[in-house]
Amino acid sequence: MQKLARPARMLLLGPPGAGKGTQTSRLLKKFDIPALSSGDILRQQIAEKTDVGKTAADIIKQGKLLPDTVMTAVISAELATRHWLAATKTWLLDGFPRTQPQAELLDGILHPSLAGLNFVVELQVPFEVILDRIANRLVHVPSGRVYNLTYNPPKVPGVDDVTGEPLTRRPDDDPEIFRTRLEEYQKLTTPLIEHYRKQGDLVWSVAGDTSDIIYPQLEKEVIRRFGIAP
Ligand code: ATP
Ligand code: MG
Repeated sequence: MQKLARPARMLLLGPPGAGKGTQTSRLLKKFDIPALSSGDILRQQIAEKTDVGKTAADIIKQGKLLPDTVMTAVISAELATRHWLAATKTWLLDGFPRTQPQAELLDGILHPSLAGLNFVVELQVPFEVILDRIANRLVHVPSGRVYNLTYNPPKVPGVDDVTGEPLTRRPDDDPEIFRTRLEEYQKLTTPLIEHYRKQGDLVWSVAGDTSDIIYPQLEKEVIRRFGIAP
């Protein structure tokens, strides 16, 4: 496991199914970067049947986004408990912010500590590729680990490699609902790329059909920007 020389405060953006979760877990294995995935947090809350979980279950099933107020409360609580609000810390966000109001709220939380985002990755994956992946995706809810029946199957069918616990399909991976999620992304999340372009040399885009094509480029760019600690 390597450490980065300079603090990286990263955000992964990309359409649903672009492989944000997969890129995140590969980065974590290599660099020891703590990560926070909004989708994983919500799925855990649903599994635990909390109040947020009950609201989330309904909305996620429809492929819609949760209200910004709910989301921002959940994430800022999580950031605070993890003591991430300092310019010296390295971390990675996956799935939050994904609307303009969420981005502005996050800026407001981070900028006073001079801990604003300093690296925004945009994953670009063709639509047909994404649809195919969604049809073959399985997840381990407690850890957020993602498998694909075609190119990244679990060692034993139906169970998580690490814990041996059962894998499930996400209810929102249904093709009809998936279309809504994709529309939500186009409409609400793509404007963020412009939002962050205005903040300097933050945004870096990478395209590819598979996570194996994207990951080495991402790793190289992380090292280029933040260096490896001696
Ligand atoms: P993938 O996990 O394949 O990258 P995704 O980005 O659509 O796809 P998640 O990030 O796991 O999926 O989110 C699943 C659902 O949780 C979203 O469709 C949405 O309903 C809700 N959600 C997650 N993050 C947010 C957010 N920042 N704001 C509002 N809703 C959110
Ligand atoms: Mg995800």
